[in-house]
Amino acid sequence: MAYSEDVHEKLICNLCPHNCVISNEQYGICSIRKNENMKLELPFYGLLSALNIDPIEKKPLYHYYPGSSILSAGFYGCNFHCPFCQNYQISQETESVKSKKYTPPLELVQLAVNEGIPSIAYTYSEPVIHFEYIMECAELAHSNNIRNVLITNGYLNPLPAKELLSLMDGVNVDLKSFTESFYHKIGGSLEPVKEFIRLASELTHLEVTTLVIPGENDSEKEIMSIAEFLADIDTDIPLHLSCYYPVYKYKTPPTSIDSVLSLTEKASHILNFVYPGNVGLKEINTKCSECGNTIVSRKGYSVSTTGIINGKCSKCGGGIPFPVN
Ligand SMILES: [Zn+2]
Repeated sequence: MAYSEDVHEKLICNLCPHNCVISNEQYGICSIRKNENMKLELPFYGLLSALNIDPIEKKPLYHYYPGSSILSAGFYGCNFHCPFCQNYQISQETESVKSKKYTPPLELVQLAVNEGIPSIAYTYSEPVIHFEYIMECAELAHSNNIRNVLITNGYLNPLPAKELLSLMDGVNVDLKSFTESFYHKIGGSLEPVKEFIRLASELTHLEVTTLVIPGENDSEKEIMSIAEFLADIDTDIPLHLSCYYPVYKYKTPPTSIDSVLSLTEKASHILNFVYPGNVGLKEINTKCSECGNTIVSRKGYSVSTTGIINGKCSKCGGGIPFPVN
């Protein structure tokens, strides 16, 4: 299905909640989707900014085949304009990249197959604005027994979101704040992201990340509102509270690890699994909800799953509430 329509000689792209009205030869807010003579064109189709093999924990996904590798395909452009973007070279500066080599969907999937990597991540800059390419890759991946993972800001209209999420095996949604004023600053709005999170929880494995920025979204009230919103959906949704480091246009000093650890502890009273992120080599464990045995322990990207034997807790034999190898 094409998410665009022709109204009074302008093209409306209705893929994401911006619903951009695009004049001829212009791009939408994402700098990716273009009106060329009243036809939606995708000049960045299949142009990858990066192709890396990552530990799944780096996405971050902690409750999804812990210790496994993932083939990460990066894109260009974004439908948000965060002044603190950690990947701004590829998300906000798209002009210089059109000479990049095109990677056909089959080539991407074949690479995962040949390297013996079980999943592909659509990641780094915002993937959903490359909806058509990802749909093609994801279908091919499934027919080759490769899983799909989406790392996204969740700013996508419900119809395409359903289509895309139904092909995803895991998703991490970046919930940037719980206030409309914060979302307005980065060029978006909160409600559609909440809607996307609800949909994702119905359709696939979901984890959520919030980058905690001092003075912006780090109040206890705001982080607890995020935890309560997620708990209303499912108290088992993992929430990652990640330390911010100054980058791009933001000069605010980094979040203190202690403040992230304290927010993590407080949110843990509301959600069953809250994890601090970007905290260096601090050990981060997942415990068995039955007996308290450590089932997964993580230090940096080094992961031990010795607490899991044959898909069960090694101590009490209880089930593990997420997919494991
Ligand atoms: Zn146990």
